[in-house]
This record gives sequence, structure tokens and C-alpha cells, in this order.
Amino acid sequence: MLFTLANNPIPNWRLPEAAYIHIPFCAQHCGYCDFAIAIGKDAIRDNYLDALEKEISKLGRAHPVQSWFIGGGTPTELNAIQLERLCKILKQWLPLTGEAEFSIEANPDSTTEDKLAVLANYGLTRLSLGVQSFQEPVLQLLDRKHKNPQVERVIEDARKLKIPSISIDLIFGSAGQSLESWKYDLTRGLAMQPDHFSTYGLTYEKGTPLWKRMNRGEIIPLEDTEELAHYEAAIDTLEAQGMDHYEISSFAKKGKRCWHNQVYWENSAYYGFGMGAARYVAGKREVNTRDLDSYIQKSLSGQETIFQSEQLEPREEAVETLGLNLRRMQGANRERFFMRTGFHLNEITGPKKDYLVQQGLLKDDGESLSLTRRGRHLADWIVTKLF
Ligand code: SF4
Repeated sequence: MLFTLANNPIPNWRLPEAAYIHIPFCAQHCGYCDFAIAIGKDAIRDNYLDALEKEISKLGRAHPVQSWFIGGGTPTELNAIQLERLCKILKQWLPLTGEAEFSIEANPDSTTEDKLAVLANYGLTRLSLGVQSFQEPVLQLLDRKHKNPQVERVIEDARKLKIPSISIDLIFGSAGQSLESWKYDLTRGLAMQPDHFSTYGLTYEKGTPLWKRMNRGEIIPLEDTEELAHYEAAIDTLEAQGMDHYEISSFAKKGKRCWHNQVYWENSAYYGFGMGAARYVAGKREVNTRDLDSYIQKSLSGQETIFQSEQLEPREEAVETLGLNLRRMQGANRERFFMRTGFHLNEITGPKKDYLVQQGLLKDDGESLSLTRRGRHLADWIVTKLF
């Protein structure tokens, strides 16, 4: 679907078929998080929705899309009335078409049955639940406040409402976490029979509370070899249960891949609305301001909310496309890459590509370039060496 030109002279990877909507509110600041968030701020959530509506209405007319991805922050911090209002805004300006996907990120402690019922009523197809761990010491280190029974309750509610796909986020490699402890999290997750897993290695982003604790010597990150063992365990355990490892951090049952995220890895166009949201339309990357008050004030007064804007040159776009394609297990197909970017893949990669292949980090079968199993854990480093 992403590659058809239809009757449109502009390739459809340049016209958004996916929309990301950012809800920045969170109950607390998790120590590892450097997303664009706002803690508390209950009083201005309606103002935020006013600002969001104003920003989206700048489209001027309804633009049908195939996916909504409401992310955060914690979208489920909004109450049921606010979620209903948000869905109505999206339905008006970005109506879903075809076999649409509607995903929302949710936290176990703020997701109630009435909120899920509203979302299900607007066609929610994917619930992405931020579980991170099933163990109290790990949850405490990450500053996560929910308890396991809340996870079980939300999944039960989602199933009652027939939400077709449930995804669980887990974090591995927390300071002090043993391999056995991580395998326990995987086993507990699998016991809930979700359709999708996203597993992320804990990172210490500069300036976050966890990064400060690390710098004060209060916590000691795992060695790279230990973290690699956690990642390998995730692949082995989840693949053994029939999960398809389709992207570095993503595992899905058959037919349950996240369509919206695949748009990013294809480097196709997408809309983005809300504080700190990024969008990619007609080769232009734009990011909104990460300052909540400024976002609301600017949007409501009709000013631009954009903080950064960059029109990519064709070669830059090709480089980005290859970097993103390599996140997928299928990698980058040479023919598609040429059709998509106008560049042959070998024109984009530098002399180190063959070296990376020899080292067993990349696989080049002549048709496609992809990461090997060893390379998956080093994807970011490989991409820096490739160009
Ligand atoms: S709930 Fe999610 S977005 Fe909010 S602070 Fe925690 S990790 Fe960040």
C-alpha cells in the first residue's frame, strides 16, 4: 500500500496517511524519560485540547488517513470526556479510511474501563500498554507507580471491549537487573498473551533524573555484554513463542505489526500535532515547540507552533531512508530504495559497508541490505559508520 502511486502525481510516501497526536500530560516524571511531557497541569488540559483543535483545523479541510497514533506523555491521563472530544476532533479533520489502525499509548494506573469504552467506540484497534516490568524493584528504579493487578485489569477490560490488538512495552537492562529477572518479565508478559511486544534497553538520557543518579554514582548501569544478553534473551524467548521480530524493538503475532510505526521506518510522510510533535510532509521535517504554555498560547492566537523546520535535500532524505529501513528485519530492498529515493543503495553507503558485512553485522544478499542478528543490538552505531 505504501508504494502505490495511485492516480496522484505526488508519490504517496510524500503525502501523509498517518497522524500522530501528542498528549503530554503525565502523573509523574519517570526518571529515565526525556520526552516532551507536562506533569500534573490538570487545569489546562481543556486549553490544550483547544490548542490542538486549532492546530489541526489549520488543515482547512478533512484529510483522510489510515492511522491515528495518540502518544505521549500519557494520553490516558485525559478523562473520558476529554478523550471523546479528542476523538471527535480527529474524526472531523483526519477521518480514518480503509483498514484503519487506531493506536493509543496507555499507562495501567490511568486507564479505566470508561475511557477504553470511549476509545473503542471510535474504533480503537491497538492498546499499547506501558508495563515496563512486573517487578517492584525495577518499577521503583524507573519511577513507575502502577501495580501488577492494574495491568491485568486493563488487559481484561480491553478484551471485554474487543479491542483487537494489545501491545506491552517492557524495559530491559535496568541497573542491577539480572538476566533471570528479565526473563521473568518476559514470561509474565507472555502469560498475558498480548499480540505485540515492544522491548527497549534502558538508556540514560542526558539531564534526566536517572542520568543524574548515575553521575552521582548512586546507580551503576549494566555492562554492554549484560545488556546484550538481555536483548538476546528477548529475541530467543519471544521468537520461540511464535512472535515475529520485525523491527529492532518490536515483536508481533501474525498480522499484528504496528502499521503506523512502519510508516516511520519506511520514511514515509506523517502528520504530527501537539506540543513537541514531529511531522514529515513532502520531504520537510518539522517539530513543534516543547514548551506547553508557549504551544497553547501560540496555537490559540493563530501563530506558528513550529520550533524547527528543515527541508531535506534528496541525498539527505535517502540517507535517512536507509537508516530507518535498517531498523526493520527486512532491511532495505535495493529496487524499492531506488524507486523511493532516486539513488542506488551503493551510492549512499560508504566504503565501510563491505567491512560491516565482513564483520557479520550487516547482510547483503544483492537484493536487500539488512542487519544480522549480531548487528541488531548495534544498529545505531552501524548506521553512523555506514555513510
Ligand atoms: S509515563 Fe511515559 S511519557 Fe510520562 S514520564 Fe513516564 S515514561 Fe515519560
